[in-house]
Amino acid sequence: MIYLDYQATTPLAPEVGEAMSPWIEERFANPHSPSRWGREADAAVEVARGQVERAIGVTGGSIAFTGSATEAINWALKGSKEKAPPGRNRIITVATEHAAVLDSCEWLTDHGVDLTILPVKRDGIVDLEDLERELDERVLLVAVMSVNNEIGVIQPVTEIARMAHDAGALMLCDAVQGFGRIDLPTEADLIAVSAHKIHGPKGIGALWMRDGAEPAPLLHGGGQERQMRSGTLSPALCVGFGEAAKLAQSRATRDYDHVQKLWVAALQALGPGWIVNGSTSHRYRGNLNIRRPGVDGARMLADLRDIAFSLGSACASGSGRPSHVLRALELSYPEARSSIRLGFGRYTTKQELVDACHRIAAVAKAQEHLDA
Ligand code: PLP
Repeated sequence: MIYLDYQATTPLAPEVGEAMSPWIEERFANPHSPSRWGREADAAVEVARGQVERAIGVTGGSIAFTGSATEAINWALKGSKEKAPPGRNRIITVATEHAAVLDSCEWLTDHGVDLTILPVKRDGIVDLEDLERELDERVLLVAVMSVNNEIGVIQPVTEIARMAHDAGALMLCDAVQGFGRIDLPTEADLIAVSAHKIHGPKGIGALWMRDGAEPAPLLHGGGQERQMRSGTLSPALCVGFGEAAKLAQSRATRDYDHVQKLWVAALQALGPGWIVNGSTSHRYRGNLNIRRPGVDGARMLADLRDIAFSLGSACASGSGRPSHVLRALELSYPEARSSIRLGFGRYTTKQELVDACHRIAAVAKAQEHLDA
């Protein structure tokens, strides 16, 4: 099996598994209980909190752990709406955002929010003039992701945060795919991250909140996370997230250089005839979303079952509908259908990537002949 689906999830780092193991097998105490064991578990959670905060690298705020980035995004959007000053009821987001953002925003339209969804240019990047035109004193929040999960393009989130602030609005950045890979926007007010995209465990995310910009709680109960988020924390998941964040920070240059080399090797091995979807210059290069006339992406997935790759986003795959991101780039239906996404990173070897690309290119050629 060759794993090329790093945007869907990443393999657990061995160091993360090792760090988590005692907290799964022996050290089962509740980190919110006052016993000595409980206090030890709490101390481990706090070490992990510091590791995640340092890797996020933005000052003036702190994180609360959540069950996923999806929860963090729901909380940020719905909780900010609840605390919005009177008269501020508009949210601006972008057509290529993840479903966690788009569907939460859509839900909010039934709860008094006036939603604006900005288009993107053909390279997948939002036009800042479009944003400028939409910003006014009624906007409560602007939500834009750092790196797109389907096409890897990087949005100008620092400028967007500044523009949002100039209009008196908050800025939420879904940094799930950018965290550990590129610098996060130091001006954002709310930042959502997820452990399993940085070689950590599934089932844990975090919301970074600027001091004073904390949203109203989404989950009510024990108030374990500073009365803002309820639910017993899992020390094993927190420790795993912390270790993954520490590793991502310490290996940042190495991981980045590795991905740059893999990108070049993949394009070379695929050969001519492929078109990259989305900007190639403003892009995280561990995401190679490509298309080729005559290719049927779904048939290719079926023909190459021992290579794990995707048709766009894991959510769009299998639904039969062209992905909303590729549609936002104004790709035609046949262009979207001929698109595949290869995602690679820290543990991908050049050899396995080149082998997979040779086989993908061969299947593409065979499909061309079949259709001719
Ligand atoms: N945002 C983006 C850009 C993602 O890629 C994902 C996961 O696919 C999410 C949000 C949701 O993250 P989680 O799996 O932690 O809920």
